[in-house]
Amino acid sequence: MRKKIVVGNWKMNNTIAESAALASDLLVALGEGFSGCEVGIAPTYVALQEAGKIIAGSSVQLVAQNCHYENDGAFTGEVSVRMIKAVGCSYVIIGHSERRQFFGETNATVNLRVKKALSEGLKVILCVGETLEERETEVTSAVVSSQVTEGLIGISDISDIVIAYEPVWAIGTGKTASSAQAEEVHLLIRTTISELYGDSAAGKLRIQYGGSVKPSNAVELFAMPNIDGGLIGGASLNAADFAAIIKAAS
Ligand code: PEP
Repeated sequence: MRKKIVVGNWKMNNTIAESAALASDLLVALGEGFSGCEVGIAPTYVALQEAGKIIAGSSVQLVAQNCHYENDGAFTGEVSVRMIKAVGCSYVIIGHSERRQFFGETNATVNLRVKKALSEGLKVILCVGETLEERETEVTSAVVSSQVTEGLIGISDISDIVIAYEPVWAIGTGKTASSAQAEEVHLLIRTTISELYGDSAAGKLRIQYGGSVKPSNAVELFAMPNIDGGLIGGASLNAADFAAIIKAAS
């Protein structure tokens, strides 16, 4: 039985003080001793430390929104895995569609980041998903399976990886993939992993769905056999909504 995992991606929202307040509101909304599923929050880099202090001692984990693949050096604006680990993160999101779309990430640079994070003991949430054009031209399966395959080149052990399927057309648009549409791609991802790593590893892999998940659609999505939780953007900025989504996965 795979333990569900729900992570809030706060993106470029909230000051340090606002992030700390949101983290604190989330703990209250979840209630003391919550342990129904694995939960993470991904504030901006500058707010990681303060948000981390708020969630210390709770079951909520700290997650970074990205990382670089070099240890250190002349990479203005970037943050290394060592820094992310030192601030207390246990997971890092890699290959989010906004990174691919707006910041030139490719499957090759995503793969470098995944390898670096794993080699330093950081767990990875690897994001994949097709654009609207790709869905309409019926290349979803080819795009998603190559994002998975190329993102994992050179990686022999996937036990510290979670894959997030996030159709780009559903992110922040209010359009959610139907539970059947999402399940179809989740199954494709698990089959791809099974071909690469065998049935046992594929059976253990957690695959999150992301794309306009709300309290009103979370239960149905999380009930699908291959959907193991969610990567939540907009709705994670409201503690009550995010807690409701987490409870739907629990
Ligand atoms: C995301 O950015 O990972 C995401 C799923 O966003 P939203 O929930 O706002 O669609």
